[in-house]
Amino acid sequence: MAEEAGQGHAFIPALPSPLVELPDPVFLAAGVHVLVKRDDLIHPLISGNKWRKLRLNLAAANHAGHRRLLTFGGAFSNHIFAVAAAGKVFGFDTVGVIRGEPCNELNPILAHAVACGMHLHYLDRQSYRRKNEADLIAQLQSQYGACYCIPEGGSNTVGVAGCRDIVVELDAQLDGHYDAVVCACGTGATLAGIAAALGPNKKAVGISVLRGHSGLDADIGGWIHEQRSSCSDAWRIHHDFHHGGYAKKSPQLLAFVQAFRQQHGIPIEPVYTGKMFYALYELVKAGTFARDSTVVAVHTGGVHGADA
Ligand SMILES: *Cc1c(COP(=O)(O)O)cnc(C)c1O
Repeated sequence: MAEEAGQGHAFIPALPSPLVELPDPVFLAAGVHVLVKRDDLIHPLISGNKWRKLRLNLAAANHAGHRRLLTFGGAFSNHIFAVAAAGKVFGFDTVGVIRGEPCNELNPILAHAVACGMHLHYLDRQSYRRKNEADLIAQLQSQYGACYCIPEGGSNTVGVAGCRDIVVELDAQLDGHYDAVVCACGTGATLAGIAAALGPNKKAVGISVLRGHSGLDADIGGWIHEQRSSCSDAWRIHHDFHHGGYAKKSPQLLAFVQAFRQQHGIPIEPVYTGKMFYALYELVKAGTFARDSTVVAVHTGGVHGADA
């Protein structure tokens, strides 16, 4: 990987990421075998689905001769954290375009980004909405010089392609013997990569962490189409496990996250993976997965972020 991104620093991702059993009386009662794909263990700093989405973007930046990365995110973005770390490890300058106004004190994510050498460029919320528009990007390029631009979340075509690796690894680890893959959805790029790579008779199940994210299904459909130029309908999104909206937490969710950590010793947080595992338990209890089926939950990382 270090060669791919063109630098001599030692970056040794733990790949394929470990696949572990998730034993639980709830799953036993339903006859569902649940495994966790521990993408959170890929690397301490560039991890989870953020590494999956960045890998090919870094290779593309390097291939095109860019030495500077520019990307977008909120002040608590795991993606900003990962891009800043990747810049340091692989020797890119980095500019993080941050939604909103600067605060007096940097939060831990932004402090880490600055410590890695990232330059922060704040954009008010209204301007930030134009984050994918060519004129805004051209303006930023004229200010910072030529750069390889990565959209919010690392969610572009090559980012989606990188997420196919999750399925490639699973196919090898389980010799193809599994029925469904579950993951948390923000932009949906990770789920799209998984769905695009799944073999026949397997299903991708996404848990949206946003409330009323009405464009999500269409975005995912578009990305899958780009990957395989045929429609896959072997996926679905559950929109009712957001617990109030992005980064919102219900008391039930917080209690679940704490109990899960204690019971399984696997760190999760309430913004993404907490909602995903919560939904997984509810779906298993509701009989969504057939008896004797094998379900893989992808731990997409993010634990250094939002009050882990
Ligand atoms: C960013 C993030 C997601 C969302 O991924 P998408 O590809 O945008 O759907 C899920 N889980 C974690 C831990 C994340 O940091």
